[in-house]
Amino acid sequence: QSSLAKDSSTSDAKTGQGFKSHDMLAPFTAGWQTNELNPLIIEKSEGSYVYDINGKKYLDALAGLWSTALGGSEQRLVDAATAQLKKLPFYHSFWNRTTRPALDLAKELLELFTARKMAKAFFVNSGSEANDTQVKLVWYYYNALGKPDKKKFIARTKSYHGSTLIAASLSGLSALHQKFDLPAPFVLHTDCPHYWRYHLPGETEEEFATRLANNLEELILKEGPETIAAFIAEPVMGAGGVILPPAAYFDKIQAVVKKYDILFIADEVICAFGRLGYMFGCDKYNIKPDLVSLAKALSSAYMPIGAILVSPEIIEVIHSQSNKLGVFSHGFTYSGSPVPCVVALEALKIYKERNIVDVVNKIAPKFQDGVKAFSDSPIIGEIRGTGLILATEFVDNKSPNDPFPPEWGVGAYFGAQCEKLGMLVRVAGDNIMMSPPFIISPEEVDELISIYGKALRETEKRVQELKSQ
Ligand code: PMP
Repeated sequence: QSSLAKDSSTSDAKTGQGFKSHDMLAPFTAGWQTNELNPLIIEKSEGSYVYDINGKKYLDALAGLWSTALGGSEQRLVDAATAQLKKLPFYHSFWNRTTRPALDLAKELLELFTARKMAKAFFVNSGSEANDTQVKLVWYYYNALGKPDKKKFIARTKSYHGSTLIAASLSGLSALHQKFDLPAPFVLHTDCPHYWRYHLPGETEEEFATRLANNLEELILKEGPETIAAFIAEPVMGAGGVILPPAAYFDKIQAVVKKYDILFIADEVICAFGRLGYMFGCDKYNIKPDLVSLAKALSSAYMPIGAILVSPEIIEVIHSQSNKLGVFSHGFTYSGSPVPCVVALEALKIYKERNIVDVVNKIAPKFQDGVKAFSDSPIIGEIRGTGLILATEFVDNKSPNDPFPPEWGVGAYFGAQCEKLGMLVRVAGDNIMMSPPFIISPEEVDELISIYGKALRETEKRVQELKSQ
């Protein structure tokens, strides 16, 4: 790591003093960071803002981890949790015992998801558990169906599906594979649908989408269609850099997948509940999935909970074979735990009452247009986004083929400027990502754009300095 990246990924010097070299093995954090830098310690949240232990206020432009859709102080969610904690803090859903909140939430989710009819919901605690569950369920289904050779999964380069063994394997990011002996051998990766970065000279978006669908078909034929179980995709890739597929992409991909009797899993962990200006990413791209993964905004992140939705065709096979199969031996202590379920139920109620999709669509143009107005910056290659999700990619000469030297830490420098100015964003190399809470106000969007602009000017200056050295 360069000294610049080190300097710029820390927070203001006072924050976290005394917690240097802290006792926690921190997720997605380098050892040198916990050894050499003070952590940023967040203590309180209010609406679209969070506060650190020194009382410094930050606009939370990533909504936690793309997750606190209703901001940081939604009293109704707190009240729902508190009432349930008093009534029944815990009971499980094993062995056909369960609780009302779990049953109610399953019903609500099946009603809310209208891209196609779904038959059942299974509860988990996180997005990673949702995707691990998908893989086991798909294997279980094909075994029940008498097609035990159908075991391989196709995911895409740059996708993010979580960090447990299987979810990290599905993910298409090398940082999740290197040094962990992953991906697992049953996972294959196909192209990332990022037109700006990967299109051939003269290729239209439609042609690009066709080429990717053809590549997928070639991969399936090479492996043998009888061995491919499912294809998994985020409608809009999140952590891989907010990558929006060309308009025709999912139609073409779905045609291929269908042709070879391969299941489609929609990983809606970031996209669901309004983020893209649709209730689900599947609605935006006309995806008719067999399985759906949900988490994050399901409870506005106030409680850890995720879910998978399962198609009637899959349930039909599993149920009709259940005498032979016995129990579905999969589940977690907290699958459908009542407190997370009531919080999710309340969040869904709020999304409905406030027409959350309209709320997002009302504020989104101000956010998108405001940030995209900086597209001319000489250090920006692309600003891309939709609804309340957006990424900025820093490159030289406006070209995806001219990245800045990683040791310059351009993205990290921008992120540090934002932090100094009171805003938290996601930095991944020279990609900067934002996904503010759905409740962000017009004034807060103005503030976001103002801080973004100031941080950008500082970063431009820094790049000039580095170039002239
Ligand atoms: N899928 C997607 C699309 C995600 O963005 C994430 C988390 N960022 C996950 C799965 C994993 O979720 P979790 O961190 O809750 O395990």
